[in-house]
Amino acid sequence: MADLIDGKARAAALRAELKKDVAALIETSGVTPGLTVVLVGEDPASQVYVRNKAKSTTEVGMRSDEHRLPSDTTEAELLALVDRLNTDTSVNGILVQLPLPAHIDSAKVLAAINPAKDVDGFHVVNAGKLAVGERALVPCTPLGCLMMLQDSLGDMSGANAVVVGRSNIVGKPMAQLLLQESCTVTIAHSRTRDIESVCRGADILVAAVGRPEMVRGDWVREGATVIDVGINRIPGENGKSRLVGDVAFDEAAARARAITPVPGGVGPMTIACLLYNTVAATRAQLNLT
Ligand code: NDP
Repeated sequence: MADLIDGKARAAALRAELKKDVAALIETSGVTPGLTVVLVGEDPASQVYVRNKAKSTTEVGMRSDEHRLPSDTTEAELLALVDRLNTDTSVNGILVQLPLPAHIDSAKVLAAINPAKDVDGFHVVNAGKLAVGERALVPCTPLGCLMMLQDSLGDMSGANAVVVGRSNIVGKPMAQLLLQESCTVTIAHSRTRDIESVCRGADILVAAVGRPEMVRGDWVREGATVIDVGINRIPGENGKSRLVGDVAFDEAAARARAITPVPGGVGPMTIACLLYNTVAATRAQLNLT
């Protein structure tokens, strides 16, 4: 049976480290790192995320600001707010919560964020820096996955890594990070032929698909390390729903050497890495190494 990679515990340890870093930063520079989250509309899931982000931010000693805008906010109004935050020196990190209402072009808004304050790591400048191996703000979910893999495996060089999913926020940056670790990386997606056997070749298998339990046990090589990014709500017992990942956990755990659970794996690391990025952005803005 696989070892459990405990994202909850790893995230708690990272937050404890960040709390010390923030205190030291305040002591030496007088600057309290500040994260500003912009939420447009009433999407219930986004409201929960934003609340959790604010709570985690203040718990490590950083400043948390929120701008909650009505769903009929125009693109021009949102861009004007981003522009103000870009030039406000008390704002170190800017996060525009997605999804945005349909009448707003998300790509245009993300492109308007100052890359130095882009703590989500979605700006093309940060994506480009990651691709060429320069210091970048890296998207939080793949960064959290990388930290867990480093803890679990140490040196990954030469390992066969398969990332299922090629989104800009998870799949592609995850593949870049694994390449930087000198893995041999394959990116699989909806057009991949014989995806089962591609996955069976993986020493490291990262599933970021959004399809409940798609990766079955017999897709997993004996002794592989499995990171399950998926968060899917499916009908459970007694009319209640439950969360499952993109990997059939019990089947995969019977073959893997280590695996992340859902919930309690990648999810908690994502918010902790947002705080990590905010501290990193603040340090870079202050020209501290
Ligand atoms: P996207 O929908 O943007 O991307 C999904 C990817 O999966 C696409 O590249 C798509 O391929 C691929 N895919 C879809 N169906 C198949 C299939 N049948 N076989 C192979 N590949 C397939 O999703 P995200 O990357 O944003 O998120 C992925 C999952 O991770 C979701 O469950 C999401 O909820 C979760 N997530 C979790 C986070 C966390 O904090 N734990 C944070 C972010 C996401 P193609 O490009 O060919 O269409």
